[in-house]
Amino acid sequence: TDEFLVSVLKLSTFLELEDGIEHAVRQFERKGDDFGPALQFELARRYRVDKWIAPSFHRLMELSLAKMDFAIVSQLGDVGYFALVKTKAELEAHRKQFTYDTPEIQYHPNCRTRISCNIAWSYEWDKSVPKIIHHPDEDTYVSIANFLDNYHQTDVTDLCSNCRVRTIDWMLANGAARDERQIIDAAVAGLMAIQQGQEVESAARFWCVLHQISLKVSNPFGLLPFLVAT
Ligand SMILES: [Zn+2]
Repeated sequence: TDEFLVSVLKLSTFLELEDGIEHAVRQFERKGDDFGPALQFELARRYRVDKWIAPSFHRLMELSLAKMDFAIVSQLGDVGYFALVKTKAELEAHRKQFTYDTPEIQYHPNCRTRISCNIAWSYEWDKSVPKIIHHPDEDTYVSIANFLDNYHQTDVTDLCSNCRVRTIDWMLANGAARDERQIIDAAVAGLMAIQQGQEVESAARFWCVLHQISLKVSNPFGLLPFLVAT
């Protein structure tokens, strides 16, 4: 069960048992989609499983904020929740801008129907694209990268396939999809920086602190700054 594996991970981390940590990590990863993203993120943060930060955050980004409950929020902690809300807001602003600005059509040199291609492209961008990108059903969420990729195979009425593919490729090359990934990558990089500055509770650390206290107890005056500091 999750509870058992969490105990194994917790104890192995505390005792610095690499085998135990690896075992728990492997068992959780074997669960696939049954390993909840919020739990994966929580454990990554608490027990410094650094390699779980990126995949768990990507999975959390697919969850609807409206459907989140307080249990998930408390698992994410202040840092995780803030990163998630901020990144989702940035992504939403980027997606709005993406559909708001109609990209200029890139005519194929062999195109013989430029006028109709131009009208069809503008019409498609104004009428169809926003409905797909801003669909109210969040289960149909599609990233800009996947959306553009799908357009390689999607016929558009009165738009020749040469102009369609050329325009999509031009948009992909100009970073329309890259920006969306960059927003998420920047959030993951920020989380990793916080992660690497965070200490994990371990037995060695516990004994070290205890040892420092005992040293200070043997010298009563030495204990004073410690008591003041705590
Ligand atoms: Zn054309």
